[in-house]
Amino acid sequence: MLVARNLTKNYSNLQVLKGVDVTVEKGEIVTIVGSSGAGKSTLLHLLGTLDTPSSGEVWLRDMNLTALRGNALADFRNRHIGFIFQFHHLLPEFTALENVCVPGFIAGTRKAEVRKRAAFLLDTLGLGDRVDHKPNELSGGEQQRVAVARALINTPDIVMADEPTGNLDSKNARELHQLFLDLRDQFRQTFIIVTHNEELAPMSDRQLVMKDGKIIS
Ligand code: ADP
Ligand code: ADP
Repeated sequence: MLVARNLTKNYSNLQVLKGVDVTVEKGEIVTIVGSSGAGKSTLLHLLGTLDTPSSGEVWLRDMNLTALRGNALADFRNRHIGFIFQFHHLLPEFTALENVCVPGFIAGTRKAEVRKRAAFLLDTLGLGDRVDHKPNELSGGEQQRVAVARALINTPDIVMADEPTGNLDSKNARELHQLFLDLRDQFRQTFIIVTHNEELAPMSDRQLVMKDGKIIS
């Protein structure tokens, strides 16, 4: 599904990624772990095209993402890659359903079709009775599940999550991680997850351990 070859990233004279190779198969949940400053977020941002590598390539299926620029890149990212962050970044004035719809509307999919899929996703994630709630009327765990539904609205090839459980208590964190496992089993959804959570990381299919800008195991 995703192949990254020999990625490096430099900030002025600081090399924060020192030649990283990653291969992720469809339906795999891969976690990236390692101490703070190891380069985990930087790697995730390069894999998700939120940032460009200093050298190396990222391929998603048969598409060389490193060759995409501007609107073509933004459009490709919105359609093919879902993002979940530590903080949900939901729009406060929009309902759960409307928040989930946003990337679908941006992709230009028919509005009725987007709304139908948003309702289906919220239902699948156990939020069928929360569709008309605004973010501040939802619990932290519910808000993060709305963010998961939003990440899935365009049926992305891959979902990238940066510390998705970092702002949740341990019960909600376990439930969210279980949800990722369910989505993998049900839809063969592929995930790359940066996490500090030592309890959840081993529940993934594969763990990449980073240190000083390299994958060490
Ligand atoms: P992790 O996610 O493992 O904590 P990061 O990828 O956030 O690590 O950071 C790796 C290293 O890159 C750190 O030393 C960090 O200070 C540095 N870094 C990250 N972003 C920038 C930036 N925009 N400019 C300069 N240095 C950065
Ligand atoms: P942190 O790494 O401190 O948790 P965030 O998760 O808020 O910070 O953001 C990390 C990076 O992701 C930043 O470069 C930010 O610009 C980018 N980012 C945050 N939210 C989005 C979003 N919804 N879409 C695209 N990029 C985002």
